[in-house]
Amino acid sequence: MELKPCPVCGCKPLLLSVDEVACVNGFCPVKTVATKKELWNIRADVISRDIQLQKELVLEHAIMNNMQKIQDRFPGLSD
Ligand SMILES: [Zn+2]
Repeated sequence: MELKPCPVCGCKPLLLSVDEVACVNGFCPVKTVATKKELWNIRADVISRDIQLQKELVLEHAIMNNMQKIQDRFPGLSD
């Protein structure tokens, strides 16, 4: 099974046993936590999806903000 990067810090996973992994990064909060491979990958998936979603929301908000500023400055353009 291919392992995804650490869900917390993005570092490589360290294989502890046949089915358990932990993070290699000594500064990572989950470095000593042994996790089942399946769970590790699910967490990594969920977190990267959350990050992607957050980026899209921030971008959307910035676009709406800019549109509002343009409309405030040029009221005639809105229709
Ligand atoms: Zn980590």
